[in-house]
Amino acid sequence: MSDFAQTVKQQADIVKVIEGYIRLRNAGAQRFKGLCPFHKEKTPSFNVNGGSQQFFYCFGCQASGDVFSFVGKIENVSFPEAVRIVAQKSGIPLPKREFSSPEEAAEARLRGKLLDLHEAAAAWFEEQLRGPEGALAREYLAGRGMTPQGIKVFGIGFAPDSFGALRERLSGMADEATLRASGLFSSKEQGDGTQGPIYDRFRKRVMFPIANESGRVIAFTARTLETGDKAGAKYINSPETALYQKGQVLFNLDKAKTAIRQAGYALLVEGQMDCISLFLRGIQHVIATSGTAFTEQQVAILRRHTSNVVVNFDPDAAGANAAEKSIALLTEEGFNLKLVTLDGGLDPDRFIRERGVEAYTQAVMGARRQSDYLIERARQMFPGAGGEQKVKAMNYLLPHIRRIPEKLVRDQFAMDAAQKLGIDSAVLREELRQAALRRRDHVEVRLTALTEVERVLFRALAITNPEHEGARRAAVEAVTTQQMWFEGLSAFPALEALANRGSRDPMEVVVDQGQRALLAEALLGETEAPAEGVVRGAIQSLEQRRLEGQLRDIRAQIAEAERRSDFAELSLLTKKKLDLDKVLRQLKSGNPTGSSRMRSQAPRGK
Ligand SMILES: [Zn+2]
Repeated sequence: MSDFAQTVKQQADIVKVIEGYIRLRNAGAQRFKGLCPFHKEKTPSFNVNGGSQQFFYCFGCQASGDVFSFVGKIENVSFPEAVRIVAQKSGIPLPKREFSSPEEAAEARLRGKLLDLHEAAAAWFEEQLRGPEGALAREYLAGRGMTPQGIKVFGIGFAPDSFGALRERLSGMADEATLRASGLFSSKEQGDGTQGPIYDRFRKRVMFPIANESGRVIAFTARTLETGDKAGAKYINSPETALYQKGQVLFNLDKAKTAIRQAGYALLVEGQMDCISLFLRGIQHVIATSGTAFTEQQVAILRRHTSNVVVNFDPDAAGANAAEKSIALLTEEGFNLKLVTLDGGLDPDRFIRERGVEAYTQAVMGARRQSDYLIERARQMFPGAGGEQKVKAMNYLLPHIRRIPEKLVRDQFAMDAAQKLGIDSAVLREELRQAALRRRDHVEVRLTALTEVERVLFRALAITNPEHEGARRAAVEAVTTQQMWFEGLSAFPALEALANRGSRDPMEVVVDQGQRALLAEALLGETEAPAEGVVRGAIQSLEQRRLEGQLRDIRAQIAEAERRSDFAELSLLTKKKLDLDKVLRQLKSGNPTGSSRMRSQAPRGK
């Protein structure tokens, strides 16, 4: 780890950084808990140590590490990138950029350059919208109820009807290869297979910028103003670039994330115009999928902000299909889902413009639970009271029921379905019950309870503060020189790894998952390092336990010798027993010298 990374790690507060992504509650003793962002769960098993150890650990999926691993994992970025992000979040000024490889440096340079190009392009599109050529676009936007203020908030612009205007504008900023990589331009393949000259990709279109979570423009959605044959696709998007991967962006999340936390849920719509329209009318916890079904990456991103979603998709058939795919994925991922259906088959944008904010808010408040929505849909698709229709309705519902991770929720769903569909057949009810049973709940790693001695040793071996070095050294010495005292402990492999960790992080050196869970359990509860006396006491209790074990063995051997009337053996064993008794007495009276003398002589247990 570089010096800079080291500095950042010392100054950053892991709790504050993680709270920027997920909600944590204080569980006392510098321990914080929350719902794990790395696996689906409804009860928190994600823990953060906010004390001297500064690590996170999830008892559900065993994700663990320091502040950099957290950021790296959640943002899906490399280590140097994670260091930079943590530094920025913690207000630590960045030194000259450091990269671990030339490729990484080149990649970061390219991304930086592409961000600059997008910023310049967005500003230029905005300028064009205000200019004479933008008249038609302004008219279109006004027709959709957009105010100049709203246009400014979303940075909406206009790409004029030109093949070279943007190229000209940006050509001074970057070389041609970079311009090609930006996705802002197109080119045609030549006869010899090479790409021809570049030209503006977006022409005569209204430009909606797509921002990343930090609000920087990374791509555009462009709506045509042409009608008829010349129009082409109604909407075109930027292609995937080094900045933009379609399935990894939630439209408007940058603006909505604070409101989502406040509201406690996200309102999910399909279209970007729906999203913009609702946001500008004060419903700010709204994000859009941009017309396609949700991806797993989008689900992961959303989970950082909330696990409650109210879905308001377009009511048409296509909408219902995309809606169902998204619903299926969100259900599998354990989200709490509610669904809005708007009166009159209107989409959110039209509904709020025609009926007003109040009516829309009412509709969202009246959102139905996902199970009710699906049961209702099943009834509409397979109406009638006939047995055949009921079977079809049930077959439609069964996969949805199986998908739900929580057993209680599945049971409830199955019962509701049976009741509302009027299924009185025992066979069908049994089918439903089986569907509810089949899915297993998430299984957590069960911990063997740690003994107090193991806790003390873990905490001593994990000490990083030089002030408490004495306690650490006592533990290291005992673990490395008196292995047999520790071998019976369930945490022995982790203790041994810690004793040999050098200057590495405690959580880093324990590789085995079960062992790491034990270590995390011990360290999460820690407030301060154990005193040297406490550590020595713990070690002594282990030594004592071992001696007592040996005594038990000898007593058994004595009994055996008596049974065989082997008096020579008996006298030898009795002598050993007396020696051991003496050592144990001395140990208990707090005089360890006797034990040191005896260590090499004490017989090994079986
Ligand atoms: Zn987890």
